[in-house]
Amino acid sequence: MPDLWMPGAEIHDLGDHAPTDQQYPPKAIAHITWDRNATATAPQDWCTFDDLVNYFTTSGAGSAPHLIWDPFSGRVAQLFPADSRSKSVVDSPGGTRTNRAGRVVIQIEAVFFPYCRKDGVVYPRLVDTPCAGWDRLHAWISSWGVPDTWPMGHPTDFTSHRNEQVWETQGGWYAHAHVPENDHTDPGSWPDFTAPTSAPVPSEDDMPLTDADVDRVAQRVVYLLAQASAGQPPNGADDNLTWLINWYHQCSQSSMGAVLDYKLGAAGVASLAQKIDAAPAAVAQALASGITLTVNTNPKGA
Ligand SMILES: [Zn+2]
Repeated sequence: MPDLWMPGAEIHDLGDHAPTDQQYPPKAIAHITWDRNATATAPQDWCTFDDLVNYFTTSGAGSAPHLIWDPFSGRVAQLFPADSRSKSVVDSPGGTRTNRAGRVVIQIEAVFFPYCRKDGVVYPRLVDTPCAGWDRLHAWISSWGVPDTWPMGHPTDFTSHRNEQVWETQGGWYAHAHVPENDHTDPGSWPDFTAPTSAPVPSEDDMPLTDADVDRVAQRVVYLLAQASAGQPPNGADDNLTWLINWYHQCSQSSMGAVLDYKLGAAGVASLAQKIDAAPAAVAQALASGITLTVNTNPKGA
């Protein structure tokens, strides 16, 4: 079975799992969070990924998706496992079960609204962002058998196209604007299945890491583990590194190991794996002997 939780995702399991309708083909539903109504002449500041994660795990849990996706950094939070329904579409009594009509019905909320402003740049459409991490997100959803097709058309604007019979019987990707019983018209645009992804997490550059980089990352892992063992929150924890560690520990069972290979090179992966696996022992040894670990705590050197 494919991974229930997307490798590398930050897991915030809401509990509230419920099965989907296995007799229908697998689907994905694309959304944007549309937090604010901005325009070309009056752009507004982007709402942060962390704010949205906070919202969907508290007061917004009643409309929570499976995945919250930050198209600028590539961070992904996951709130439901793949085999559960999630709650970002309306499901009226009777008719098709909009949030369940598929072997999977995986919903993604991209943290975006039209004409959001981030770091001084205004983004009219989701596809104008780096769409960072789209390749990993798409790969995981594909691993659940969701075909690369839009039965109601690839979204290019905010118009509705809904057909209950198509929805129920055809697998693939749907915009929220395509889901019956709903009136939302998002996401307005969505990256192509073949779109190259820029700015992949965890590293901000596209060059394979050098041996020295791998050493620094491994040292940073030892440092974080030492702090965690001592019951302290990682001081100045680096989200990208946390993500990398998390990812490393999951990707051995995942097709996404290929992405790590690309980032590190095969030798880099082997070297990093060895060092991470050795890290807990090194931490225990260091703590037992009262040694203060003095390692580079800034692996990216920035
Ligand atoms: Zn939506």
